[in-house]
Amino acid sequence: MQDNIVIQAPAVATQRSTREWQQADSKHFLHPFTDFGSLNKKGSRIITKAEGIYIWDSEGHKILDAMSGLWCVNVGYGQQSLIDAATRQMKELPFYNAFFQTATPPSIELAELLAQVSPPGFEHVFFTGSGSEGNDTIVRMVRRYWDILGQPERHVIISRKNGYHGSTMAGASLGGMSYMHAQGGLPIPGIVHIDQPYWYENGRDMSRADFGKVAAGWLEAKILEVGPEKVAAFIGEPVQGAGGVIVPPETYWPEIQRICDQYGILLVSDEVICGFGRTGHWFGSQTMGSKPDLMTFAKGVTSGYIPLGGVMVGDRVAKVLIEQGGDFNHGFTYSGHPVAAAVAVANIKLIQQLRLVEHVRDNVGPYLAEQFESLRDHPLVGDVDHCGMMAGLLLVKDKAKGTPFPSELEVGMVCRGHCFGNGLIMRAVGDRMIIAPPLVMSRAQIDELMALVRKCLDLTLADAN
Ligand code: PLP
Repeated sequence: MQDNIVIQAPAVATQRSTREWQQADSKHFLHPFTDFGSLNKKGSRIITKAEGIYIWDSEGHKILDAMSGLWCVNVGYGQQSLIDAATRQMKELPFYNAFFQTATPPSIELAELLAQVSPPGFEHVFFTGSGSEGNDTIVRMVRRYWDILGQPERHVIISRKNGYHGSTMAGASLGGMSYMHAQGGLPIPGIVHIDQPYWYENGRDMSRADFGKVAAGWLEAKILEVGPEKVAAFIGEPVQGAGGVIVPPETYWPEIQRICDQYGILLVSDEVICGFGRTGHWFGSQTMGSKPDLMTFAKGVTSGYIPLGGVMVGDRVAKVLIEQGGDFNHGFTYSGHPVAAAVAVANIKLIQQLRLVEHVRDNVGPYLAEQFESLRDHPLVGDVDHCGMMAGLLLVKDKAKGTPFPSELEVGMVCRGHCFGNGLIMRAVGDRMIIAPPLVMSRAQIDELMALVRKCLDLTLADAN
């Protein structure tokens, strides 16, 4: 064989019709969280390009992407500095691993930058390829920490029902999605769940502030039930994303922090959605007033342009692992992937240059909150939640009594259908309609978004009556 054979990339076949794409798709591609059989009947929507806050499908429809892809395209689509960073790094060094005492400049630079933007006390990072792998790493690391300290019986991790922490065996076990646990014998041993801090569903007979403390108290009750000497850690999303943008009362996280401190258990913040500015601070735990020991991240670290995840390791854990731990027998081929790391560096620098965290905190976050609050006058809207650039609303049959729609009506799906049909991506979680738009949005674009939201609510109301 000749040295350095260069082969031209094959042209990507973009000339197919939508139907042809759909046929090939349903023939070969098993999609995540999808009824595989239904793809044959309905056919997928084929997304072909994107720019700014918009995506286009293969039929040429322009759609406002109020979900930032999948909670990740924080800087919007088409950012040249991220594209250039990937291209440059692909040419220079497309891959090398971080095993066997090797490293690459972009992965080192990213580690340094992550320590700069994280809260004080986070000087170390462990890289993974995704948020799920990040949370698997959390389970391994938390249990290793207590083993090293001579307390191996401390292995139980407490999490929350309706939380989402990924789809690997450990990620799905940490998560509290019963429909996921029902498949594949989950959760794995040593993971237990408490109820979520969802005021509208579980606490409407008291003030939000009182409910926040009651809900945090469920953690203490669980610690006592399991036995404090067996509990390793508590994990939660600052704002539950996939569970339906459930924003906890302000009293919740400070009380969770107090309980974790009291029993000496590690606090883990899953920042996969909330990290990198979405809540108006670099990390959601800063918005919520907690001081975690470990933080999982993914998505917004590269704005989804390329897969990357990881765990920020706070000093309490890092000191023990580094000074007393010896080998940590865990890692992935793509831990610290140089191209992913180069894109993440460019992404974080862009967030800094555009002052996106401040833009969310002081400008578009409060504006989106105001706009969502104004939806309370709509006959279908029972409640609204918002935090930075995340928001949700609950569709109800009778707002005075808070009566839900019969589940078989699938009102959320009806509303989602109207959104798709009218050029808006809004996600339905049961009857909760949720958004997490790109952080780069302007106020005028929020106005455009809200006009679409109102239109789709009106169309849903007409169907529901
Ligand atoms: N944690 C949270 C809070 C998430 O929202 C997600 C994904 O949506 C994950 C973890 C899993 O991340 P990934 O899909 O990259 O494995």
